[in-house]
Amino acid sequence: MDLQPILDGIADKIGPHLSEGRVADYIPALARVEREQFGMAVITCKGETAQTGAADTVFSIQSISKVFTLTMALGKIGNDLWERVGREPSGSAFNSIIQLEREHGIPRNPLINAGAIVVTDVILSNRADPGGRGSGEAGIDAIREILDFMRSTAHDETIAIDREVAESEAAHGFRNASLANFMKSFGNMENSVERALRVYFHQCAIAMSCKQLARAGLFLAADGRDPISGKRIVTPSRARRINAIMLTCGHYDASGDFAFKVGLPGKSGVGGGILCIVPDIAALAVWSPGLNKNGNSHAGTLALEMLARETGWSIF
Ligand code: GLN
Repeated sequence: MDLQPILDGIADKIGPHLSEGRVADYIPALARVEREQFGMAVITCKGETAQTGAADTVFSIQSISKVFTLTMALGKIGNDLWERVGREPSGSAFNSIIQLEREHGIPRNPLINAGAIVVTDVILSNRADPGGRGSGEAGIDAIREILDFMRSTAHDETIAIDREVAESEAAHGFRNASLANFMKSFGNMENSVERALRVYFHQCAIAMSCKQLARAGLFLAADGRDPISGKRIVTPSRARRINAIMLTCGHYDASGDFAFKVGLPGKSGVGGGILCIVPDIAALAVWSPGLNKNGNSHAGTLALEMLARETGWSIF
């Protein structure tokens, strides 16, 4: 299939929709991102690539990081993770606290904020020290390990954290602090709330382009093994399960709607990015900062809907 004309056609058609969403405004560093931007990149399991628009522009990956930290935490403690976080769609906003009380501090799934903070806590408690570069400070080491994982899956050492976004997340992170404190009160946090949040805010502040994200996610399209380098990242059954969680939980309370419209495992972030996996075929990422009411990229979702229609890539 010739992907380039399909992507260019989508970029043409998406223009009028770029001004329809609202840029995330909970922190100044995201609020000032220009809304009318669009990029998309696809990489297939055979290594073919296609891209359109601002596919090389880096943006804040935000919650898309949750897929990668989930992968890391499963690698560290395996199925024990499921004692501390569920695998059901929440049907609530990404930062909702309501279910946490009813469900005794066990978040519904690892792709909402509360679940991702537990996952971060697991990474902190079980952090490795790659190459013996440990700083002696747990938070710094965990942040470095997460960044190293993103760089190695994307095969790009230039990937970095946007410090301003990280600091501003911390300065405005009252809701995330309450989620973490709540879980701590139920005994579902091993590290201090401050330390876990520090790591969580830094993982959200990783800046990547569509092209880098699609490359980083490619192992999930190929049974857990990077089809280009041949390196195994996770087992086939784990890759299948991470994809299942992306499909059912990757778009918060719009996960059902995304499955209905696009039909692919996907994970969105409030920076306007969406990572999508086409099992056995490709990984792709789209970015447009205007968000819909659920905090998912408005034009990005529309673009993926067009792509799924034109390629027949829906898994259904
Ligand atoms: N940094 C954001 C937060 O924690 C991430 C949320 C998101 O991308 N949906 O609120």
